[in-house]
Amino acid sequence: MGLKIMQKAAFPGWVNRLCASCRVVGPKPLHGQYVFDDIGAAEELAIDYSTSVLPPKKYILPQREELLYFKGDQIEAVIEEASQPTVIMGVHTCDMHAIHFLDRVYEQGYTDQHYLARRENTILVSIECLRPCTESSFCKDMGTLSITEGFDLHLTDLGDEYAVDIGSEKGEALLDNLEEVSDPTSEDYQRVNRVIAEKWPRFHYKLDFDVTELPSLLTASANSDYWGELGDRCLACAMCTNVCPTCYCFNIVDEVDFSLNAGQRTRQWDSCQLDEFATVAGGHNFRETRAARQRHRFFRKGKYQWEAHGLIGCVGCGRCAEACLVHITPVDTFNQLNLRRRKATAEVK
Ligand code: SF4
Ligand code: SF4
Repeated sequence: MGLKIMQKAAFPGWVNRLCASCRVVGPKPLHGQYVFDDIGAAEELAIDYSTSVLPPKKYILPQREELLYFKGDQIEAVIEEASQPTVIMGVHTCDMHAIHFLDRVYEQGYTDQHYLARRENTILVSIECLRPCTESSFCKDMGTLSITEGFDLHLTDLGDEYAVDIGSEKGEALLDNLEEVSDPTSEDYQRVNRVIAEKWPRFHYKLDFDVTELPSLLTASANSDYWGELGDRCLACAMCTNVCPTCYCFNIVDEVDFSLNAGQRTRQWDSCQLDEFATVAGGHNFRETRAARQRHRFFRKGKYQWEAHGLIGCVGCGRCAEACLVHITPVDTFNQLNLRRRKATAEVK
């Protein structure tokens, strides 16, 4: 919808003004890491953060939410309604792609009214990443180190100013009456292009093949010995899925109070990596081994989501690699599978 230029000196005042009019969340430092949390004033916001422990997904898919309450034979469903908007500040482009992915999942087929209501109430202020978040980031391979749509506002750091790309009317409204915002000159456009061009060499490809080959690589690797090797190492701790911006598996839990007459039903994050995840009636576990669960995890990221939704289910944020105590990573896994496939093909020839 257009580009504006904001003086960096005006940024704290702008954030403070938003904090006074609506809920603002964003990255904050905590114990040497960054977490998304409520922002009460601009000085709390660490807009230049590396990565966050949990992605901003938690504001549209909370770790736990009540779906209904019951008392006797009375049941009251919880209905998410439009309320005060939440501005999520400083969303990195990989997380923006992850939210786009979740939109695709939750808006198709049986739409999820809770998700859609929260999404409607969410205003996304994203920021162009000018360097990789961590050693584990592989956003360049996944095509997520930049974004052209889906944001309400998108910031690009130009040094003493921000280029502010307006993506929606909601975003435009956030800038209303802000005096320190001006129209860009042709030199400003050149500066934006220069900053974007200069960032690309700072990011490196990590996969040994093109990501478009990922679904077929996984198909060819269904019976690879590598899954057993991963299963031997995996601790089934679920950290990898808990920190993932595209994981959305949940459990439904009924909690009854001491009277046995009242309680509530909640939806809570779950993980395909937990031993009991695939346990069904009769105690049967249809994905009992850690090897089978690791295979499922990577198939879901690189193949199943592509087949179901037309998008790869991994945005290359690297959080799972940083979180895993035994160093199981998507890059190593996919490259190992690729190496073994190439060796097997060469042997056949
Ligand atoms: S699988 Fe790992 S790298 Fe990919 S989106 Fe999830 S946490 Fe990020
Ligand atoms: S974080 Fe690592 S050890 Fe834990 S479940 Fe995931 S792959 Fe297994």
